[in-house]
Amino acid sequence: MKGLKSILDIVYPRTCPICGKTLSDDKLICDVCNGRLVYANKNTCIHCGKILKDRASTICKFCETSETYFEEGRSVFYYNDAIKNALMDFKYHNRRENAKFFAESIMQSYADRISLWNIDLIVPIPVHKKKLIERGYNQAAVLTSELCKLSKCDWTEALIRVEKTKPQKELTRLDRLNNLEKAIMVDDKKLNLIKDKNILIIDDIYTTGATVSSSSKVLLESGVSKVFFITVATGMGN
Ligand SMILES: [Zn+2]
Ligand SMILES: [Zn+2]
Repeated sequence: MKGLKSILDIVYPRTCPICGKTLSDDKLICDVCNGRLVYANKNTCIHCGKILKDRASTICKFCETSETYFEEGRSVFYYNDAIKNALMDFKYHNRRENAKFFAESIMQSYADRISLWNIDLIVPIPVHKKKLIERGYNQAAVLTSELCKLSKCDWTEALIRVEKTKPQKELTRLDRLNNLEKAIMVDDKKLNLIKDKNILIIDDIYTTGATVSSSSKVLLESGVSKVFFITVATGMGN
């Protein structure tokens, strides 16, 4: 398989994860698309990293009013159309190679923070088994695997989704938290691996915070020391 893979790399040259243009040299993204990206590194919530509308505040309303269970989290990009295309292709159209660009971007923005947080182990957000069979892969696990090649961290799929969640649209935010809480659990077989560890959760997008927060909660309940998270993209907070 390895030999076949390197032949494919030559036959199919690397393309821009956003517009699909063939890339020269060892670039990960074309210059035009690079100019369309917005980094989530200014005026962000000190706790979850969301970009704040109100420039005078330092924390978003969700973090201020909810128990979030994670220590701290950050995202690389603001979720605009450019990054949305790359993420949708990655998640739904089998563009797994986009993970290289995402992992590299995470390292450029947050390598220092990952070492500051003293991360022992990286854990991807799981997808439901049914989706895994349909799609063939968990995008967060593909991203985690690429990130670990660069960061030299260990990773394991310590979280599992155990039951089907109700459609999110029909639920209030509070219900979403409860809904997901039932759905994401720690894999019993991984308990020894995660005990007393500092865990970094990886996901593609940070939206309501419900998924990351409920995952953090079950990890803490299973003996994890601290939970942090990084996602590729984030939305605007209040
Ligand atoms: Zn491009
Ligand atoms: Zn926040």
